[in-house]
Amino acid sequence: MGTGGISVFAERKNQILVAGTAGETIQCDRPSLAGAVSQRACVFCGARVVLYPIADALHLVHGPIGCAAYTWDIRGALSSGPELHRQSFSTDMREREVIFGGEKKLEQSLLELIEKYQPKGAFVYSTCVAGVIGDDIDGICRKVEKVVGIPVIAVQSEGFKGNKRAGYSAACKALDRLVGTGDTTGISPLSINILGDFNLAGEIWLIRSYYEKMGLQVVANVTGDGRIDDIRRSHGAALNVVQCSGATMELARYMKEQHNVPFLRVSYFGIEDMAESLYSVARHFQDVDWKVMERARQIVSQELKDLVPEMKALKKRLQGKTAAVYVGGAFKAFSLIKAFRHLGMRVTLVGSQTGTEEDYREIQQVCDPGTVIVDDANPLELGAFLKDNDVDILVGGVKERPIAYKLGLGFCDHNHERKLALEGFLGMRNFAREVAATVESPVWKFVPRRIGRTTAGTALSTERKEP
Ligand code: SF4
Repeated sequence: MGTGGISVFAERKNQILVAGTAGETIQCDRPSLAGAVSQRACVFCGARVVLYPIADALHLVHGPIGCAAYTWDIRGALSSGPELHRQSFSTDMREREVIFGGEKKLEQSLLELIEKYQPKGAFVYSTCVAGVIGDDIDGICRKVEKVVGIPVIAVQSEGFKGNKRAGYSAACKALDRLVGTGDTTGISPLSINILGDFNLAGEIWLIRSYYEKMGLQVVANVTGDGRIDDIRRSHGAALNVVQCSGATMELARYMKEQHNVPFLRVSYFGIEDMAESLYSVARHFQDVDWKVMERARQIVSQELKDLVPEMKALKKRLQGKTAAVYVGGAFKAFSLIKAFRHLGMRVTLVGSQTGTEEDYREIQQVCDPGTVIVDDANPLELGAFLKDNDVDILVGGVKERPIAYKLGLGFCDHNHERKLALEGFLGMRNFAREVAATVESPVWKFVPRRIGRTTAGTALSTERKEP
């Protein structure tokens, strides 16, 4: 396997490959290499990002204060109503609880918080310390649930017990305890649940509006702008529409097995994937109401009327530029590769924190030969590949941003913290404008490693050398 001359840990060599290399497969979905300083978050963080957007739930972190502080308001997920999710409650375990146990403090905290905030449900997250000392979080939750009369659910998310993907699994198990406990009266046969969208920058409102214009009833948002009571009755919907490769797929599978709700996998990023998401949902309902497809087509053609000319203009400016993509879930990477093609740009590096074998097989098929594909990278590897490929922009999250800026590259935030909607047709327009503004920013002319390239033939070109 070629790593383009970049030195990587011997144990990680089979987690990197170059697209187009015959017979090569990538190893993934395994624990991060000790000492490699993975970009991944812990299991607890994985669970927290999935459940956090449920806005009328109490989210209590049972652990030392650092776990709660580290994930405070982590998604920036917006709510159209209550905002209890934005509070970061913690049992603040200290030496006393570590020695004598934290169950008593957990029970008291739960009773006090539920009385004060009157949530519709509560999630209690287990962390490393709670797991190591062996607190029976599930036992305490069940005990409190009987007293308070709302669902109180333990999330078994001890940080050490796997990678971020195990956190998604813990979150889906917690959600599974809610689904099927509500009344499904009045749910239309033309109904869906939206899974795997977290309402960053109000995106679920946009996506929901497309589905509602198609004549579909949205029963539950899981979990962006989510509500406990909606999720409890979500088993009454006719279809689960699941975005993202990992976060809520396990819940969709549980719902298929236990409640016979079929699911479709979609992506709301980029023109083709957004349009295909609407068409695939419309195809599902075609036998119930053929007009659903007609309405989907109308939405797409209306949205593309202004978008396509603008994309063409931006493509002229960005033609030939290069991009790198390093994201949490691999499913987003497929859409980003296609979105960059619309802008005339080539993705030369693509990677994810939690991709599966199936995800990477699809990435290999969709990207150009020679593209470096990397699983569970670390800052040094990413930095080396970015320098080697001399990309114009990196798309990633908060942990990748400093890598890009230190190297003097453009950066586009495509993660929890972003404040700009990037989903849907509107999102594609926002994304294209942001990429153009970043790539074409004059600031990059003054970055040492670029200075020779951008000022060739001028006095500046001899002043600084590649560091
Ligand atoms: S759960 Fe463990 S790994 Fe995660 S933030 Fe807390 S102490 Fe750190």
